[in-house]
Amino acid sequence: MADQEQDLRKTLRVEPGEKARLKDRDPRDKTIFEDSDETKAATAALAKDIDILQDRLYAEGSRALLVILQGTDTSGKDGTIRGVFNATGPLGVSVHAFGPPSRLELEHDFLWRVHGACPRRGTIGIFNRSHYEDVLVGKVRKLAPEDVIEQRYEQINAFEKMLAENGTTILKFMLHISKDEQKERLQERLDDPTKHWKFNPGDLEDREHWDDYQEAYEIMLNRCSTPWAPWHIIPADRKWVRNAAIATIVKATLEEMDPQYPEVSWKPGDFKVF
Ligand code: AMP
Ligand code: MG
Repeated sequence: MADQEQDLRKTLRVEPGEKARLKDRDPRDKTIFEDSDETKAATAALAKDIDILQDRLYAEGSRALLVILQGTDTSGKDGTIRGVFNATGPLGVSVHAFGPPSRLELEHDFLWRVHGACPRRGTIGIFNRSHYEDVLVGKVRKLAPEDVIEQRYEQINAFEKMLAENGTTILKFMLHISKDEQKERLQERLDDPTKHWKFNPGDLEDREHWDDYQEAYEIMLNRCSTPWAPWHIIPADRKWVRNAAIATIVKATLEEMDPQYPEVSWKPGDFKVF
């Protein structure tokens, strides 16, 4: 793997056991990618590389990649999916957005609905929000008792370990935006009629709890970045930096997985197409 890719992953990854301080991570960081046009072109090329690797993953049919996207409202989860996976064959990708749990889902443990949405062998699964909501909105809005929330970090680690041991590589990205950037993006949703549908008055309530959310994010980053499912903190105020960083890490990870086209038991010369 190129040194540059290694460096980028190291810079953005939360090392297991490391204290991830969001205040020390600049959401407007532009040092990792400098020129916007060049970077956008490179990201488009990466998206094509991801497609080729995904084709191999599908053909191999024995392992999966799970990409988990977390971030506050307007942090760019939808835009990341569009920007990074736009060249990937739809057959091999599943996207799942998690909203508030239904009544049925609430009748089960919090991971029940998540397990069912995990990617099949041979595919890439993308989570737009995830089980981490249960230690984020769940914690900030006190949707469950404190001791129940407290147990969830270890339950998540155990669940992800089980997935990893069964052939799913896991990548987790926190889209880190500044409070000012969120203000601009929320205002845009009010100003642009084509974005009205994305606006939800509840987003403003969550914005009031900004500091509580940042704290809840820090706790889960500290407790749930593991060797088998590392967290990355992505500077996300600039969309092109965000997409480039995630595309680079996804491609490098697929390359490391190195999926292989299966061997066949026949030789092409044995057949003649009539
Ligand atoms: P959006 O991503 O803007 O469509 O909004 C989805 C909403 O669902 C957000 O407000 C999340 O906080 C909420 N949500 C997702 N998962 C959960 C969960 N496990 N418990 C409570 N709320 C959730
Ligand atoms: Mg929303």
